[in-house]
Amino acid sequence: MELRHWRFDLALRHAWAIAPDLTRGPSGGSGAKAVSPVVFIELTDGEGRRGLGEAAPSSQYRESHETVAAFLQRADPRRLSFDDIPDSMAYLDTVAPCCAPAKCAVNLALLDGAARAAGRPVTDLLGVGFTEGRHVTSFTLGMDTPEVMARKAIEAAAMPVLKIKLGGPHDRETFAAVRAAAPGRRIRVDANQGWTTREEALRNIEWLASDGGVEFVEQPMPAAASEADAVWLKERSPLPLFGDESYQGAADAGACARRFHGVNVKLVKTGGLTAGQEALQAARRLGLKTMLGCMIESSLLITAAAHLADLTDHLDLDGHLLITNDPYRGVSCDRGLLSFATAPVAAGLRVAPRESGPGDDLPPCGPNAKR
Ligand SMILES: [Mg+2]
Repeated sequence: MELRHWRFDLALRHAWAIAPDLTRGPSGGSGAKAVSPVVFIELTDGEGRRGLGEAAPSSQYRESHETVAAFLQRADPRRLSFDDIPDSMAYLDTVAPCCAPAKCAVNLALLDGAARAAGRPVTDLLGVGFTEGRHVTSFTLGMDTPEVMARKAIEAAAMPVLKIKLGGPHDRETFAAVRAAAPGRRIRVDANQGWTTREEALRNIEWLASDGGVEFVEQPMPAAASEADAVWLKERSPLPLFGDESYQGAADAGACARRFHGVNVKLVKTGGLTAGQEALQAARRLGLKTMLGCMIESSLLITAAAHLADLTDHLDLDGHLLITNDPYRGVSCDRGLLSFATAPVAAGLRVAPRESGPGDDLPPCGPNAKR
């Protein structure tokens, strides 16, 4: 097996920031960013089989394109096989316990290559389905001034569900501006750990509940908050609470079941589709609601995650809609509705490089996309 990897800078439609970027200040935060580097990988074997993967590292978890590249350089590709994906993933855990984004990229490439060679979609390998006409993703508005957030909400007029990043110094002005620009729209709120005490979190959640159109609140307090504080908040919250930074994978399901009503699963946190599926199933077994989320990602990773859509209650698979130079095509998105009906290929992860097919002159399929 040969492993090739390369960095690619995803260009953001709008400068992007979340709570930790703006509230930690110059010493701890990274500030708003204009590009988001990812790492693509390609695995090929002696039999002509080939699979593609993507790592979307996040500074929130102290990951970067450098940590991904360093991990991939340490891994011996001769220990990877399209014929034995569980053994390949177990080998990667012996290379280093960390670096879930890099493991995610390898897991996707292994599944892509194995499924392509079999002429089947990855959903078949995972034993799941994908129900067309059912899966609607939210569309996320990154942190900015209330005026810019309102403008973003108007730009996203075609998207039925918005997710707003709060947890900053101007939450109420921001929410009011977005609500005025998108009256009646379903809104989800992600505080990204931005409310530091349980009392502050509860005050904000009660105020959000009074809007009547907020579905749930994601990660109101830091993942490092005490269990006593998290349980206190859960008992009093008038809105469902979802853990994101608190839920890295299946091993966190027990703790999250005590702290939250639901969890947000992301392939780059769990280390790929195999572990992502396990993370969704572990949460469900404990009665948690689930959502499938993402980082800033190309259509490759987004499309991979969409393969698990039937296993989850909510989708937040919009990372590819936030960029202007998506190098891949895969699952389509029309007014938030995800579909594989027009996927460029039928096998593997069902993605192809953007330049290889029709429609290259179109923007990534987003709120204003033509069909
Ligand atoms: Mg989140």
